[in-house]
Order: sequence, then structure tokens, then C-alpha cells
Amino acid sequence: MNLNIKKLVRTNVQTLKPYQSARLLGGKGDIWLNANEFPIPVSFKIFNNAMNRYPECQPKLMLELYASYANLDSDQILTCRGADEAIDLIMRTFCEPNKDSILFCSPTYDMYRVVAETIGIHCYNIPKLENWQLNLSAIINQLDKVKVIYICNPNNPTGNVLNPYDIQYLLKIIDEKVILVIDEAYIEFCAESTSSYLLTKHTNLIIIRTLSKAFALAGIRCGFILANKIIINFLLKVITPYPISTPVIDIATQALSKNNIVSMYNKVKKLIDIRKWFLVNLKKCHCVEKIFSSETNYLLVRFIDSSKIFNILWKRGIVLRDQNNHLGLSGYIRISIGTKKECKYVISILQSLSTD
Ligand SMILES: *Cc1c(COP(=O)(O)O)cnc(C)c1O
Repeated sequence: MNLNIKKLVRTNVQTLKPYQSARLLGGKGDIWLNANEFPIPVSFKIFNNAMNRYPECQPKLMLELYASYANLDSDQILTCRGADEAIDLIMRTFCEPNKDSILFCSPTYDMYRVVAETIGIHCYNIPKLENWQLNLSAIINQLDKVKVIYICNPNNPTGNVLNPYDIQYLLKIIDEKVILVIDEAYIEFCAESTSSYLLTKHTNLIIIRTLSKAFALAGIRCGFILANKIIINFLLKVITPYPISTPVIDIATQALSKNNIVSMYNKVKKLIDIRKWFLVNLKKCHCVEKIFSSETNYLLVRFIDSSKIFNILWKRGIVLRDQNNHLGLSGYIRISIGTKKECKYVISILQSLSTD
């Protein structure tokens, strides 16, 4: 019975290695430092109770607010069910299954691969250089084979920002033959590093954003695509009729008010201070081998014995993101920045290990 069903499943789905979502990992922990979520919730009221009606596909006010936040026009914005849906929507709009290819640069966010493999799109992986920057010449060598390039800036899980000249150079080289997607899920933590100013000049550029990280709204599943309106209109042909639910529109619209954006940036500033404190104190722990500076709300750390550290913290209720199975990241753990209290707790455990 089960075997027969399996035969019906598409071959690439049968062999697909799925995304390891933070929630799938489980753990009895009460300190969640594994999914780069904001540590403190924001609360909103629901004002629109007309749940008997379908929502607007692209809610006008919400798009206008995001456009004003991103310094763009609202016809350059599309909203969707989180950045993850954006990754999928772009691939389904531009790539022919079993024919086209995408390119990404590991270590990076795993969903580019998962979505491509699900649809049946070939992946070229051009690993990053040792300083976590793009290997431009190796990317350029593959250009005539790829349709869409996905880069993540600042990059998850390494935390660094890409050299802006590399991005400009890449856009110049690919001309309009390839689509460049820049995933800016963490851009609020280093707002000056956005590539959105390049959108006017480069019609093949697409930027992905989300309310899941700095806006502390991972639970509502709301993301944005920024691009020129020709691209937006093609994406709108593919998107489901009602991608954003009425309560999500309600909450996102409030979150994007001028006051709430100011308050988001204030909280981001405080979190960055905690990250700086955390980094200095992690460096002092003997079990820590290497830490990379970060422009985000997480740190990538190499430990002398990362599996042991992961398990010790796991048993104390602290859930981290093990990077061991990622190419080039054996011995690495990614730690999201929590509250000061949570970070202090992690440090106190690591310090007690160092001395025994
Ligand atoms: C968290 C994350 C996403 C997913 O964001 P959602 O809006 O929650 O779907 C996409 N890209 C990167 C790089 C991320 O870290």
C-alpha cells in the first residue's frame, strides 16, 4: 500500500532532502536561539473582523506603507507568504523544470536548493571564498548556464555583508541575461547595506524581504518582493489569488506605521548591543575556536568540540542551530541573539566548561 503511493510521487520529491526547519528539530528547550527569531514579541490588535470576505490579493495600504519604508514606489512591491514563498515564486516564474538552472553560493540559506530540487531545477553551487565573499570569477564561468542567481545579503549563516562593489560588478556582467535575487531577510540589522538603490537601474534585480526577523513577526508569515513593475506583474500571474490572510494584513499594516518602524529600529539597536556584548564574551570562552563578526542577529561560532557543546546546551534547555552537516561548516554552530539574560546564561554555561 505505502509502496504504491511512493511510486506516484514525483522522482525528485522521492529523493528530496527537505529543509530542516527550526520547529521540526524539536527539543524541550525554553531558550530558542536556533531560528534567528526576534527574542521578544510585539503585540497587535485585530481591527478587521470581516473574515467572511476574501482579502485583497495585494493590499493597497500595506504596499504603500512598505514602499515608503523601502523608498520605492508601490508598483515595485509585491507581498507574499514570507520570504520562503518569494524564493519559490521567483523560481516558478522564471525557471523551466528539467531545463533551467539556478546558482547559489554556499554556505547560505538552504531553501534555494530545496525549492529548486522540488520543482526540478538544476543547482550550481559556487562556494564562497574563505572570507565569505562571492567567488566572482567562478560565478562568471557558469553564467551562460544559469537563469537565476540567489545571493543572501547579509548572508545566513555566516552573518557577513557582501562587498557592494561585487554586487554592482555582478549586475553589470550578467547584464539582462540572468536574474539576480538578493535575499535581504536581515537587512534591518545593517540597513545601509541594502541594494534597493540599484533597482531603478537594473531591471533584472529582485530583492526579497520579510517581517520575520527584525520586525519580530515570524509567526504571521509575511514577506515582500521588491523589483521593477514588469517583473512584479509576471510574479502576480503566478501567485495564489489570496496569499495574505486578513489578520496578517491587519497586523502588517500596523507594523509598518511610521511609529512602529522607529520602534523596530530602536529594538534592533538594542539587539545589536547585546550581540556585541555576546561576541566579546564568547571570545573569552576556551571552548570557542573562532567567531565571525556579524551584521545580523546571529553569530557563527566554531567550537573545539561543537557536538559536545551543542548537546550540553541542549540539555540545559538552550536550542542552537548546528551547522555540522553544511558544506564547509563542520564544527560550526549558529547562535541567534536572544535577550541579554539568555545570552548571559549561555556564557555562564560555556565559562563553567572552560574551567573544568
Ligand atoms: C528566515 C529566512 C527566510 C525566511 O523568511 P520567512 O519570511 O519567514 O519565510 C528567508 N531567507 C533567509 C536568508 C532567512 O534567514
